[in-house]
Amino acid sequence: MSTHDKIQPTVFVIFGGTGDLNARKLAPALYNLYLEGWLPEQFSIIGTGRTKLSDEEFRQNLLEDINQFSRTGKAAPEKWEVFNKNLYYQVADVNNVDTYKEFGTRIQQHEAEWKTKANVIYYLAVAPNFFPIIAENIAKSKLGAAADRVRIVVEKPIGHDLKSAQELNQLLTRLFEERQIYRIDHYLGKETVQNIMAFRFANSLLEPLWNRNYIDHVQISVTEQLGVGDRAGYYDGSGALRDMIQNHLLQLLCLVAMEPPINFNADEVRNRKVDVLRAMRRFSPEDVRLSTVRGQYASGWIEGKEVPGYRQERDANPESNTETFAAVKFFVDNWRWQGVPFYLRTGKRMHQSSSVITIQFKDVPHSVFPAESAEGGHQNRLIISIQPEMSIRLQMQAKRPGLEMILNTVDMVFDYKGTYTAQAPEAYETLLLDTMLGDQTLFMRGDQVEAAWDLIMPILNTWQNRKSLNFPNYSADSWGPESAEALIARDGFHWFTLPLNGKK
Ligand code: NAP
Repeated sequence: MSTHDKIQPTVFVIFGGTGDLNARKLAPALYNLYLEGWLPEQFSIIGTGRTKLSDEEFRQNLLEDINQFSRTGKAAPEKWEVFNKNLYYQVADVNNVDTYKEFGTRIQQHEAEWKTKANVIYYLAVAPNFFPIIAENIAKSKLGAAADRVRIVVEKPIGHDLKSAQELNQLLTRLFEERQIYRIDHYLGKETVQNIMAFRFANSLLEPLWNRNYIDHVQISVTEQLGVGDRAGYYDGSGALRDMIQNHLLQLLCLVAMEPPINFNADEVRNRKVDVLRAMRRFSPEDVRLSTVRGQYASGWIEGKEVPGYRQERDANPESNTETFAAVKFFVDNWRWQGVPFYLRTGKRMHQSSSVITIQFKDVPHSVFPAESAEGGHQNRLIISIQPEMSIRLQMQAKRPGLEMILNTVDMVFDYKGTYTAQAPEAYETLLLDTMLGDQTLFMRGDQVEAAWDLIMPILNTWQNRKSLNFPNYSADSWGPESAEALIARDGFHWFTLPLNGKK
């Protein structure tokens, strides 16, 4: 098996080693990196948690997780045999500073065995209230001082609002250098999301059109069929605006709206994204009323199965004011985008699970064809489908074959599956590899996170202070509340949906 020779020997310490994130995402990602030769020859993965487990039990648990969740299917016995020898478990309560000495001892043992200093990645796959104590204890135990070799990865949510995000950033940057801090937004690791930059900045034909002169509006729609399931306890204190728009959807918006960076350096790319967030128009209370919609799902039926409303989900507050749907109309006040609306929507228990960005171009200035020749709308659309379909489509008008001049819409499609045979890596594989390589391009810098919070705080405050009187206001298997249709229809547009498996 080839191994990656550019990467230093690495120790991963996974806080939350017994948790869901490690089971479903991190362990399968690390295993697949190993399979494809991206891990260094010398590596060690130390899982931690309060649950008492031996190394052997931990290995067995991860094998089951990998068998269930890895994109490459069940682990091959001969590969697993080698991989699992690098897995260890340590019982630890993260609040107890003494247990960190034991991490230090284990890391030193590996370094002695490998005869070299190791890179150490502390992955905080635990509830966010533990981020400060873990960061403090790593620093107190002098395990974080080697800035060139030690990195700390924090999961979303990065703060609960602007103030808590600032406090967390201040704490992290007091204890670590910014170059050591990797704030994950797993959307940024997705193949199709990374391709937005390739598509925009490696092709010269788009740039002349990529502005207010040719683009009518932009839509970013991230919807899921699932409800909150067992996570209402967590979700009730969050909601769609915090959980999705503040991070994933605004990151997508930044990729669409950013100016071309000078190069692909992490700070250069992130500077251009922060520019977008800073240019976005702030909301007055009146703007919140006119340009935002919130919703909460009622009970209903999805694919023949009856599903509960949000307030009836396990652990949900029966009078909850938490939104499970949010739609917002944003503007980016700069030369490129002045006057172009960006409509963002996200929701649970929706008709389809899909993430799609639609760039709608302006209509032709003058139609030379008679009105009866057009079938439906004329406008060109660029549709970037992130999931489940991974594709980029350009919708154009073409003459339908026949004796009459009838125009209809045709798609030019770049479909990942049809173009490439290799399976795309999972977002966490990309992000874990970048953490090992020390490349922060796809991670959020502190000022980026704060700029996104700053933008949405007026919406959050207004929604919190004014209880919604019509919740629940959309049924399961719908496209959200009717007011979300009205939000975009008022401007003469409608939400675009990509038919998936024949389902519109
Ligand atoms: P989870 O399943 O509840 O796991 C929590 C982990 O924290 C467990 O391993 C638990 O281990 C450990 N833990 C709790 N208290 C501890 C303590 N005092 N000392 C040591 N360990 C302790 O949570 P999760 O779903 O994995 O989520 C973890 C983080 O990732 C959260 O910040 C979440 O928002 C984020 N995230 C998760 C997902 C996902 O798909 N799950 C996706 C995106 C982001 P013991 O019970 O053994 O102590």
